[in-house]
Amino acid sequence: MAERGYTIELRRSRRAKRTSLRITREGQVRLTIPWWGSKRAALAWAEERHEWIVAALERIKRRSEGDPPLTDEQVEALRKVAKELLPRILEMASEKTGLRYGRLTIRKTHSRWGSCTREGNISLSLFLAALPEELIEFVCIHELCHTVHPNHSAEFHALVNLHTAGREKELQKRLKNFVPR
Ligand SMILES: [Zn+2]
Repeated sequence: MAERGYTIELRRSRRAKRTSLRITREGQVRLTIPWWGSKRAALAWAEERHEWIVAALERIKRRSEGDPPLTDEQVEALRKVAKELLPRILEMASEKTGLRYGRLTIRKTHSRWGSCTREGNISLSLFLAALPEELIEFVCIHELCHTVHPNHSAEFHALVNLHTAGREKELQKRLKNFVPR
């Protein structure tokens, strides 16, 4: 399918129960099909999602064009900012929402902006500190809502929406323009 502008890497998985499509950070299009699945059917399925794939790849391209990865020195400078900024914004978000958390750890995480354990401990990527404050607050609210719902259920999103004055979708969309780097 190279004539489409991308190639599809097809994988069979013993664990997969259905066909799924994923675009990696590097812009690789990965199609996973169940062990018993039909390659033809999966490719036809992916074909139907051509528009979505193109849009996702363009987004990745836009992200990588703007800013090259930070140097070690830049990361250390950002870490200093993060250690001051992130606890302050998380604390503010906690007070505003009335949602309590345990401990905050700041990590050099590229894969996600934040996470929350079942015990209510929150971890934030230090790269979050480079984002507009409104988005930092949004990530904090997202993680704080996980102290109530440890999943991405409809109830979870309703809670995030409540604490962001109905702006979850809009903020999530803006966040997608950035990548932890
Ligand atoms: Zn989440």
